[in-house]
Amino acid sequence: MSQSVSVTCARLVATKLALYKNGKHVTQLKRACVTRPHGGTETRMRLCIHRGTREIGGTCVELESAGQRILLDLGLPLNAKDVASTPLPTVAGLADADPSLLAIVLSHGHRDHWGLVPKALPGIPVVMGEAAERIMRAAADFVPDPFAPTASQHLKGGKQIQIGPFKITPHLVDHSGFDAYALEIEADHRRLFYSGDLRAHGRKGKLFEQMIAHPPRRIDVMLMEGTSLGRLADDAKFKTEPDLENAFVERFKATSGMALVACSAQNIDRVVTVYRAAKRTGRALIVDAYAAEVLKATGNDRIPKPVQGWPNLAVFIPHVQRISLKRKGIAPLVDSYRGFRLWPEQLAEQASRSVMLFRGWMLKDLDRAGALAGARVFWSQWDGYLKDRAGMQLKEECVARGIPFESVHTSGHASPGDLKRLAAAVAPKRLIPIHTFERLRFPELFDNVTLVDDGQWIEV
Ligand SMILES: [Zn+2]
Ligand SMILES: [Zn+2]
Repeated sequence: MSQSVSVTCARLVATKLALYKNGKHVTQLKRACVTRPHGGTETRMRLCIHRGTREIGGTCVELESAGQRILLDLGLPLNAKDVASTPLPTVAGLADADPSLLAIVLSHGHRDHWGLVPKALPGIPVVMGEAAERIMRAAADFVPDPFAPTASQHLKGGKQIQIGPFKITPHLVDHSGFDAYALEIEADHRRLFYSGDLRAHGRKGKLFEQMIAHPPRRIDVMLMEGTSLGRLADDAKFKTEPDLENAFVERFKATSGMALVACSAQNIDRVVTVYRAAKRTGRALIVDAYAAEVLKATGNDRIPKPVQGWPNLAVFIPHVQRISLKRKGIAPLVDSYRGFRLWPEQLAEQASRSVMLFRGWMLKDLDRAGALAGARVFWSQWDGYLKDRAGMQLKEECVARGIPFESVHTSGHASPGDLKRLAAAVAPKRLIPIHTFERLRFPELFDNVTLVDDGQWIEV
């Protein structure tokens, strides 16, 4: 024993893990580490939420074990003016090289979870879902502050990966972002479960029920999102995507001209909902090059995209987009939409048989084409974005032109009732709120809640 005591703690932990695999001598080695002569203690995974204990967005969690670290998400805060003026969290290795920062693991492709990654040193390995990576790369040609990541390895539901001392088991979840994961992480025999962003009422709600039926076991700390708290009554339910599909069917039937749906092309569940409602009402879904590329990037055969075998789908390239594609030297991209193209002179004639996946700046094209008679706009994203400049402008313009404007949306996040079911199923020793403006509601709703502050280190 005395020889064990003289080795470094990091080495002891390595030995401990190796022995644990064989199921031997774990307690003995732990004791050896605890009784180190210079007063050191057993290594134990620690965590620090750098951002997210009191807000939705900007999520960043650092995990540390035996001097090695990973980040879970590195998001842009929702209220950030831009990336340039938003400081990185104080994590060693983000701004100055530090090899003990092993990786940044991204739960999904929403900017409030990855938005600050482009600001970090480029050499840090990024780990994320393969489809999420493809979608981000496809979107990078079309969005402001683009980021086209090259992942060092991929998250895949149920497939455990190891990064240094961290064993990570991703769980594919239902969310408004495609290819999103909750993460089960083990190090130093401690177990953490990070919910990421998730819900139960989307097109993959089955995944949530599977998690409730087979939750991760023996969780010491669970970081659970609480986006819906304060936005929805505790006993209320969100509409499901199929509910929304029916709502769209009704609306499209009552629209004499073109139905314009303002939703994110990256909300794949919603695009599917709108596509199905369009099909049910004898309309074609018109998408632009951005949406077309994002849909192709899902790599999923059941998701509509401008490739052979998908009816009721058309691609229209707005004027501004055509110029932008030319400027970026990627105009030939549109050649792949052959057979799906809809030209400006066809818009008016097709209006009553069409639904357009739409953003405010496309009004110009529709106006020029005389395709706005009888049109209606359906806002199908978070109402909070109507306070942004683009959202406000669109609404004002619709009012000025007499175009009916209506919100038809459901949340990308679990209701309080579903969160209660999840917390009860996982039954962690400690439940820590994250991704919420309502942390103080957690102790009222869930058991074993521990409140922490941004920047506070705790042992798992
Ligand atoms: Zn989020
Ligand atoms: Zn999200």
